[in-house]
Amino acid sequence: MVYDDQNIFARIIRNELPAIKIYEDDHVLAFMDIMPQAEGHTLVIPKSPAITLLDLAPEAAAYTIQIVQKVAKAMEQALEVKGIVLMQLSGAAAGQTVPHVHFHLIPSSIHELGKHALHMGDQEKIKVLAEKIKAAL
Ligand code: 5GP
Repeated sequence: MVYDDQNIFARIIRNELPAIKIYEDDHVLAFMDIMPQAEGHTLVIPKSPAITLLDLAPEAAAYTIQIVQKVAKAMEQALEVKGIVLMQLSGAAAGQTVPHVHFHLIPSSIHELGKHALHMGDQEKIKVLAEKIKAAL
């Protein structure tokens, strides 16, 4: 499959579409999920154009997971969550809906999680949560 550089996350990386960002550097971006599965649901993405984890260069994967950990620690501190589910769906058959590799950080218990990308979140409420996480980074 060929990488589609018009996918939503590629456009967010290029600032063509808005996102509630909490972390950005030259290689990775973290932002709030627009349809959160739980309060504080965050996405961490490498900027390199890979569709799934399997397409991502090992160095990019290694660096991205470092930022995943950094953001998870900030979420734990800022939101006082008890547990965080790290979810990564590779391929449409696995449930991947956006064809740019991403890691979901969901403050929750695996037993409480419903289906993802189901209901649009309250974006003002999400902005408040994003500020809290940013402050803990
Ligand atoms: P996937 O199903 O590919 O693993 O997850 C894609 C995630 O991206 C879903 O949780 C969905 O809510 C989120 N999402 C889809 N479109 C947008 C968007 O335009 N902005 C943001 N911030 N998140 C999005």
